[in-house]
Amino acid sequence: MTTNQDWIDRDLSVLWHPCTQMKDHETLPPIPVARGSGSWLYDFEGKRYLDAIGSWWLNLFGHANPFINERIKNQLDQLEHVILAGFSHQPVIELSERLVALTPPGLDRVFFADNGSSGIEVALKMSFHYWRNANRPEKNRFIALENSYHGETLGALGVGNISVFTETYAPLIRPATIAPSPDCQKAGPGETCADVTARALSAMRAILEREADQTCAVIVEPLVQCAAGMRMHEPAYLSGLRALCDEFDVHLIADEIAVGFGRTGTMFACEQAGITPDILCLSKGITAGYLPLAAMLTTESIYQAFYADRASRRAFLHSHSYTGNPLACAAALATLDLFERDRVIERNRQRGAMIDALSTPLAAHPNVANLRRTGMIIAMDLVDDQGQAFARTERRGLLAYRHALEHEVLLRPLGDTLYWIPPYTLSDEEWRMLADVTLGAVEAAARG
Ligand SMILES: *Cc1c(COP(=O)(O)O)cnc(C)c1O
Repeated sequence: MTTNQDWIDRDLSVLWHPCTQMKDHETLPPIPVARGSGSWLYDFEGKRYLDAIGSWWLNLFGHANPFINERIKNQLDQLEHVILAGFSHQPVIELSERLVALTPPGLDRVFFADNGSSGIEVALKMSFHYWRNANRPEKNRFIALENSYHGETLGALGVGNISVFTETYAPLIRPATIAPSPDCQKAGPGETCADVTARALSAMRAILEREADQTCAVIVEPLVQCAAGMRMHEPAYLSGLRALCDEFDVHLIADEIAVGFGRTGTMFACEQAGITPDILCLSKGITAGYLPLAAMLTTESIYQAFYADRASRRAFLHSHSYTGNPLACAAALATLDLFERDRVIERNRQRGAMIDALSTPLAAHPNVANLRRTGMIIAMDLVDDQGQAFARTERRGLLAYRHALEHEVLLRPLGDTLYWIPPYTLSDEEWRMLADVTLGAVEAAARG
């Protein structure tokens, strides 16, 4: 039998891991996973971990889900992949039809890519190219929000505002204008979130008054800015922003890569504001965490601006090799079937009260601040005994991470923000265990 250590040694001699200072592995080695089942990951020695972060916000219906497995296996025997330029296939057509039907009204065309960041590149290029085709080439800039995250390719970093990702590459990036975030945590003493919303919208109006003529689009992460530390805002911000984008004639790009597919309590976050963006970006949960896929939905009017004789050079020539991969589309179709079959949105909503009850002891803990929940995203910030944030250098979140691992939970904090983005299939028992271990992790982190 191979041990965990065998795999760790082999890993560390060849791999370079994402989002990692590899030297950290000298003290905290990567965990080799032999298999997954339901909400659990198992290492090579039988130790298990509850996947409380859905393996980076992807997994919706557990690991090795028999229903999804079966559908991918069936597809595998039919067609593994085919070029999507000049050719088409059943899963991509069916998936496109179903996404058009499920997403807010007016999004009638689907363009595919093979991961989230590439999807953002598609959205930015599509918006820019639309204005160029509309004889408005001077509209070539973007507006993004403070603390935004849209992926890590260079175009996506241009609309990002988290310095650990953007700073080093600044010379390579064409930065967007950054507008204040409507993050409810910015409410000052005596203020409500509605005040923050109103202030963020009037700041956006001021920016648009100055820059709309040069602006292609405003890009936002609807309802929750996940990578920034699960920062949440009101649906009213989105409806206000939609109105401003209409008034100033700029596109609204909704990046629902993290929040789509039920995460915020509705299938798509935009539904809660009753808005239709000009471009909607989907990835992550689209295949329930099985295979890389991104879908960008847009309006017939954007699509029509590219539709012309070949000589006009209006076509959108963007492409990725694995665009619309049939196996990924089959996984996505199985995912949508599970949403319907198990009435997942409704069932998740019914579990809200149970989740709130379980997080009450956490919310009351002196070393926890800002416990917050939007649908199936629950987050809280570690604070010291005086209720102040710990110095970043103390890395208290890392202590929480270690404690949780020792107690069979994969909880991967963002700095000192602990969060749960679990599969939708956690049992009541697993939810209780998650809350208990998180409480222990808070205490371990507070002890230092
Ligand atoms: C993860 C994420 C992306 C990037 O997706 P990748 O597949 O990791 O490239 C973009 N936007 C948001 C909001 C995300 O959470």
